[in-house]
Amino acid sequence: MELPPTRYRIVPRDPRAHVFEVRCTVERPDAHGQRLRLPAWIPGSYLVREFARQFVAVRAECDGRPVRIAKESKDTWRCEPCNGTLTVTADVHAFDLSVRAAYLDASRAFFNGASVFLCPEGRAHLPCVVDIAPSEATRAWRVATTLPRHGAPPWGYGAYRAADYDELIDHPVEIADFAHVAFEAGGATHDVVVSGRHDADLARLAGDLARICQWHVDLFGGAPGSRAPFARYLFLVNAVGDGYGGLEHRTSTALITARDALPRRGRAAVDDDYRGFLGLASHEYFHAWNVKRIRPAAFLPYDLARECYTRQLWAFEGFTSYYDDLALLRSGVVDLPGWLELAGRTITTVLRTPGRRVQSVAESSFDAWIKYYRQDENSPNAVVSYYTKGAVVGMALDLALRAAGSSLDALMRALWQRYGEPGRGVPEDGIAALASELAGRDLAPFFARCVDGVDDPPLAELLADVGIALRVRPAAGPRDRGGTPPRPGGSERPPATLGVKLAAGSEARLQFVFAGGPAQRAGLAPGDSIVAADRLKVNAESLAAAVERRAPGDVVRLHAFRRDELMTFDVSLGPAEEDTCWLEIDAKAPPAAAARRIAWLGG
Ligand SMILES: [Zn+2]
Repeated sequence: MELPPTRYRIVPRDPRAHVFEVRCTVERPDAHGQRLRLPAWIPGSYLVREFARQFVAVRAECDGRPVRIAKESKDTWRCEPCNGTLTVTADVHAFDLSVRAAYLDASRAFFNGASVFLCPEGRAHLPCVVDIAPSEATRAWRVATTLPRHGAPPWGYGAYRAADYDELIDHPVEIADFAHVAFEAGGATHDVVVSGRHDADLARLAGDLARICQWHVDLFGGAPGSRAPFARYLFLVNAVGDGYGGLEHRTSTALITARDALPRRGRAAVDDDYRGFLGLASHEYFHAWNVKRIRPAAFLPYDLARECYTRQLWAFEGFTSYYDDLALLRSGVVDLPGWLELAGRTITTVLRTPGRRVQSVAESSFDAWIKYYRQDENSPNAVVSYYTKGAVVGMALDLALRAAGSSLDALMRALWQRYGEPGRGVPEDGIAALASELAGRDLAPFFARCVDGVDDPPLAELLADVGIALRVRPAAGPRDRGGTPPRPGGSERPPATLGVKLAAGSEARLQFVFAGGPAQRAGLAPGDSIVAADRLKVNAESLAAAVERRAPGDVVRLHAFRRDELMTFDVSLGPAEEDTCWLEIDAKAPPAAAARRIAWLGG
């Protein structure tokens, strides 16, 4: 006999205590005692987060009579055998401001299903119906989600449905008194809702996002005016004082942003902060194809009880990071100098990571669960980002494919047609095989060196071939993110370095000590707080100035506290690395190279 849908009910019950009440109702439960499990992680964020730790006061009843419920493991509950309708109710503490779990206070409610909805064992394939109900305090708010409505009015409380548990947890829900704007792109309605205090020019935002979204749709569709593989898409934006992050879903994304990064009324230019916000929105939208529909085989299905290993995040996150900014250029939202600056900054980030010499992007993907997502004081020395180096590998692969008459655009379309559209998983060697096929030659050596190995991609040569010069210089101070040429009137002397990164703030406290650098050789450690240089008191700014006045080879005596112990270190300064990159159009490049650049980036 066919089992009926699993029913859920969620209420933002107590905003002051940050408590949702969440109910799961199971008809004809397992006769041996129904088990229910909560995911340990949320797809898109590769860390076991143990959402069950926020479950308090879990109780069960059958046809209205209390039944025993006991935990069997950290994230599994089992009810005493019963006949009838089983209802399990939990209070869920929700005060995580990130886009990955759940949040409730007097201003807004937000949740991801993975952090609130129990999955009854053996029933993940069943349809789900969820009633999103108000509490007295939240009655005036509206509901934003791409969960299909099942009786609820548009933007209203009421019943929503999902085809199965996997879909249920892939539509985050925002409940608040939010601002709203809509636009059309790729034949789909796109809604943007903005919660939190802000004064954004929503019409401007919708106009810019419409161009970017249509560009992505056209990339995968293969022609201008293509149609999106969904009828509706939703950007859930939470505006805060300071924050940045996003999480991708099949037809929506949850974003957190500084309110100052949203476009302000009367301001025409795309400033640095707004460009960053558009890049984030573009990134998550590209994921609607790359990782939500084109998925590593290891994610079909996701095993939400434990780590799900793949060596391919460098492509699923890296290509997405390459295309997020490229889409801003190709859709006309930023100009070529603006994009060259962004690309130069991405390359700079990679060059400033010593860990790229010890960890490959394939290894970084596999170990995301214990390294990239759990960074500590040694991470820059041991970990490479599969986002930034993945983006650089993506750019290099694009240029290598273009030199062979193809492109990364063609590779993305082939991935979509072969794997995404038919719903097949990409095997671990699938991208390398497809790239070689499109290039008409064996690209295995490139993948062996730059993906499975720790080589830097040969970007300078590849860029020279399209009339762009990749240039490097030492950093000009701690706020120099790269992407721009050296400031005129700089010092003639070769700059010196301690080989450290200071923590934010006015104190000269070491956040990172780079492997093999002058500070590490002298014995300094992360966390050390430097209080004097050559017996003069220093803070972060004056320490930087003291180093700037010296030359490589000079010895500086530093006094520093390690915990509460004062220590002395004689540091022999090293030459500052040329780890800051900028890209320039090479006016002397041959016409054929300029033509290749225009084919890639436009005029
Ligand atoms: Zn991403």
